[in-house]
Amino acid sequence: MIAKNKVVTMSYCLKDTKGEELDRSEKNKPLEYLHGGGNIVPGLENALDGLKVDDKKEVTVKPEEGYGKFLADLKQEVDRKMFPADHKIAVGMQFMSELPDGKKHPFNVIEINGDKILVDGNHPLAGQTLHFSVEIIDIRDATQEELQHGHAHGEGSGHNH
Ligand code: ZN
Repeated sequence: MIAKNKVVTMSYCLKDTKGEELDRSEKNKPLEYLHGGGNIVPGLENALDGLKVDDKKEVTVKPEEGYGKFLADLKQEVDRKMFPADHKIAVGMQFMSELPDGKKHPFNVIEINGDKILVDGNHPLAGQTLHFSVEIIDIRDATQEELQHGHAHGEGSGHNH
């Protein structure tokens, strides 16, 4: 049964409210994650609690429990001068910047108009209600090392160290 500190292997398909597919796990490469580790969006993680192998579930996740609400303040035009002169700026580039509360936050460069750089600190899926279809393939205990790292190790986890 899925519970905290279990490593879960699952296949998933993610759609938006219009039914358009945004993402899915690859056929022979399901996703592996550490349950309770905050490695997947909270709304999905909570909904999977208690599921068993072979269970299938449709999960709807609101923005607040997904990638956050869209915050207009995080989208802003900044001056080229704000970046080091020798820094190459390109669309799609990500950089860390401090928010007014002092927290570091990732921003993406989304548009460049001469000296004006449009940046957005929202996740591309911010503000979206997410529809997941998941199927649980495997559940196992996390290893000591995985618990220390706070994530799963193995083929589908993206962490092989
Ligand atoms: Zn690790």
